[in-house]
Amino acid sequence: MTQTLADNDLRATIRSIPDYPKPGIMFRDITTLLGDARAFRRAVDELVQPWAGMKIDKVAGIEARGFILGGAVAHQVSAGFIPIRKKGKLPHQTVRMAYALEYGTDEMEMHVDAVRHGDRVVLVDDLIATGGTAEGAVKLLRQVGAEVLAACFVIDLPELGGAAKLRAMDVPVRTLMSFEGH
Ligand code: AMP
Repeated sequence: MTQTLADNDLRATIRSIPDYPKPGIMFRDITTLLGDARAFRRAVDELVQPWAGMKIDKVAGIEARGFILGGAVAHQVSAGFIPIRKKGKLPHQTVRMAYALEYGTDEMEMHVDAVRHGDRVVLVDDLIATGGTAEGAVKLLRQVGAEVLAACFVIDLPELGGAAKLRAMDVPVRTLMSFEGH
């Protein structure tokens, strides 16, 4: 008999760690999902399920957990992969975008030739909270001429408003589960 993973089982593979990396934050750890073969496969399949069968040129992953999920998604949909990295990590010519953190800003980069004008790109990360990181990535992709088909996250923290922020930028958002709080 084929074993299937019930909806709540995918959620059960997330480990929640209170007060990490600082007091008041409930860290949602996906390493336990990644370590479970069926959960990992299912998360990858479900992330892009609404766009299955559509032409996807590239999957962009945000450093670092977005690389693991995004790389698997890119393989699954036979697309190329684009790493979006913290500044100073990419060796070739880059484009750079500032993005909002809880306190202050930081900058992310991608290679200027990673996307061709009109490429259809799906953005992937593990979790969306305030949406500052994903908003920066969408702006970066659009700056180089990409069409951002969708942004996909395993986890949504809806109280922080990130998914709503992306939808307001006309980016369809796919999330597999949500948790209350920060
Ligand atoms: P934000 O820019 O506020 O949407 O934050 C999203 C980024 O921060 C993602 O790359 C997440 O991996 C990370 N992040 C934010 N909050 C959490 C949390 N509670 N647990 C795990 N990762 C988080």
